[in-house]
Amino acid sequence: MAKIGVIGTGYVGLVTAVGFSELGHDVLGMDIDEEKISLLKKGASPIDEAGLEPVLRKNLEKGKLRFTTSIEEAMRFSEYVFVAVNTPVDEDGSADLSQVIDAVDSLASHLDHYAIIVIKSTVPVGTFELTEEILKLKGKIEGKDYDLASNPEFLREGKAYYDFMHPSRIIVGAKKKEVAEKVMSLYEGIDAPRLITSIQNAIVIKYASNAFLATRISFINEIANICEAIGADIADVKKGLGYDPRIGHHYLQPGIGYGGPCLPKDILALIRMSEQKGYYPQFLEAVHQKNEHQVRTVIFKIKNLLGRPLTGTKIGILGLTFKPETDDIRNSMTVRIIRRLIKEGAEVTAYDPGVKRVTERRGLSKLRLAQAPEDVFEGADLVAILTAWPQFRKLDWDALKGKMKAPRVLDAAYLFQEE
Ligand code: NAD
Repeated sequence: MAKIGVIGTGYVGLVTAVGFSELGHDVLGMDIDEEKISLLKKGASPIDEAGLEPVLRKNLEKGKLRFTTSIEEAMRFSEYVFVAVNTPVDEDGSADLSQVIDAVDSLASHLDHYAIIVIKSTVPVGTFELTEEILKLKGKIEGKDYDLASNPEFLREGKAYYDFMHPSRIIVGAKKKEVAEKVMSLYEGIDAPRLITSIQNAIVIKYASNAFLATRISFINEIANICEAIGADIADVKKGLGYDPRIGHHYLQPGIGYGGPCLPKDILALIRMSEQKGYYPQFLEAVHQKNEHQVRTVIFKIKNLLGRPLTGTKIGILGLTFKPETDDIRNSMTVRIIRRLIKEGAEVTAYDPGVKRVTERRGLSKLRLAQAPEDVFEGADLVAILTAWPQFRKLDWDALKGKMKAPRVLDAAYLFQEE
């Protein structure tokens, strides 16, 4: 069993730390966020992920899993160091590598024995060269003090712990096969297709996977909009389309567009990465533009249904998270739609089963957060379903429509058309 340090205990890092400890490794999770680490030390998960907290507690109690804010302690301990900090979108659409640079810089300062450094964060090409440069500046020699590997993550939020234990595939990229094999061996006990490849390939596999998922969403949204324009029913069209085994029914749900912490930023990063190397990926740009356009499409539908400008209207919103079964509202299209509604003078009340509070910095200070779904209907001119939480289907819709000023409901998440 190996000694594994995980730098950054957010969604990916925490799940990785808990998962590896469950596989029998000794794990030390490190984060600069003191509040997060103090919660984790008590066995409380800062994120709402099914099945995660009990395993976190169990392995804390067994001593297989520990947490710290000290990078020095993490580096002293680790044979493998997984970097799982965030790589948000930069102003120009490329990946913002500042967290990765900070993490590598501080781990390099405390690297006092050979360790394999594994980048789990989604990073563009060039990041590994940058990492080598930082390590070189600290006097560290590749092969003697460290080796590098790429191990992109494919988990789905909401099912993150399940996905760690039952991944669709495990991809490891490294310059040396033996380094990749060592990283791959950490996953012993997990049944999944495995691929050892180059670092470059591992990077593209991750970005291409997210670009493909984004493409499916933009595609089905395009078809849904065409259906509405020509009077066809997307529910049946989607069903008929998906019966083709080359297409399939999965990930073919129309809605307000893709959001969240991965797809929007990763498709943009892939576009910028490619542009910087001289190739303009027109097709991916169209996928992205289609998604941007979805916000305007939903606003247009709301105005159309209201038959009047938004000023002075009361709008109820069901759903804030970027998808159901998560508490994550990062980059949620819902938030963008609500901001737009508020900007145009609507009074907005929203409910989401996964969101207990919203912070003002997301530009939602005027949003009223309801504690029950029923509250968004009270005196509303229109209620829009923006996230397809299955429990919204079970509401007493007839009774709730009676509480509204007029029974206008927009199912922008196509909740009632989901299989
Ligand atoms: P996150 O923001 O939830 O977590 C990042 C963590 O890193 C935070 O807790 C932060 O405090 C910590 N951190 C930042 N700088 C640090 C430093 N110098 N030292 C130690 N800790 C530091 O991010 P996430 O959603 O877990 O994403 C991490 C990476 O994984 C990203 O590259 C993302 O694209 C990728 N990814 C995310 C998902 C997902 O569903 N969230 C899925 C696959 C891949």
